[in-house]
Amino acid sequence: MRALLKTAPGVGHMTVADVPDPTPGPGEVVVKVAYATVCGTDVLVHDDKYVGKRPLPFPFILGHEVSGEIAEVGPGVEGLRPGTKVGMESIIGCGTCYHCLRGNHNLCPQWHHIGLTMDGGFAEYIKVPASLVIPLPEGAPLDSVAMLEPLSLAVHTMHRLSPRPAQPVAIVGPGPIGLLHLQVIKATGAGPILVLGRPEDAHRLQVAADLGADRVEAVNSIEEAVAIAREMTAGVGMEIVIEATGVPAGVQTAFEIVAGNGQLVTLGLTRFTELDILQVIRKNLTWHGVVASVRRHFLEALRLITTGRVDPSRLITHRLPLEQGVDAIRLMKERASLKVAIVP
Ligand SMILES: [Zn+2]
Ligand SMILES: [Zn+2]
Repeated sequence: MRALLKTAPGVGHMTVADVPDPTPGPGEVVVKVAYATVCGTDVLVHDDKYVGKRPLPFPFILGHEVSGEIAEVGPGVEGLRPGTKVGMESIIGCGTCYHCLRGNHNLCPQWHHIGLTMDGGFAEYIKVPASLVIPLPEGAPLDSVAMLEPLSLAVHTMHRLSPRPAQPVAIVGPGPIGLLHLQVIKATGAGPILVLGRPEDAHRLQVAADLGADRVEAVNSIEEAVAIAREMTAGVGMEIVIEATGVPAGVQTAFEIVAGNGQLVTLGLTRFTELDILQVIRKNLTWHGVVASVRRHFLEALRLITTGRVDPSRLITHRLPLEQGVDAIRLMKERASLKVAIVP
């Protein structure tokens, strides 16, 4: 089959090539890929900036946001058969550690992740443990289902925040993660919702407005962001702030615009930044880190899609064949694009 491979460490080293067709072992299934969407993580791997729990197994197939149809089931797999349309989880836990036993394999120290520590879905077929696949109800849209993984992260965030109707929310960073959070937080009834971006984010902010943000603003400085947040809340600040930029200025902006007693979520993969910890104390803040998601989040994300409450496919700006997989990764870096889908 054809597959998009990352062949070696370093920037780039990606190519579409022939690899052996996967065959399912005991407890495994092979899925014929319908859609595989490109994630910011894939871009980090392309750029040699990804910091993982395990070394990457070069050469390997990238791609962890996948939908498709079961092609083959391995020995011992029950309840799944060829032809069933599926989405899939991306993390496999050890099953026996403290966190796995509590259903939180997103925190397993021994985790495996499709498209990162094992072959992923930028290919015609993907082989995964049967426990990862999520059979779909009739008619579930496979393009949106491919985005279950990032959408389930937004569901996980909601579990942490428990937003209330009419709570002012700011989303800093109108990239795919920010806009999926916008769709889900909108479905909770919280608001008004402010989405902040940079002047070069005009296209993304327009999408945010189309998706129902109450206000979208391109700002050049933290001070501008603070002024807008104050104006919207009679000087109080935003009760919930979701940081999804991945750059230090975004994190600093989030800490400035959050209200006293507010909740702040950092999602952007920033490593080090200067923060005034006194702000956390004096604002009586609750600061959440949210990492990945597990079955319960995926199932709620699927329900959001099938009930029409959110439509992740509205973020797909490009659909490319597998042969143009390297272009798909590069397109994700451009601010004119949001989600890029590879359609094998
Ligand atoms: Zn992802
Ligand atoms: Zn574990």
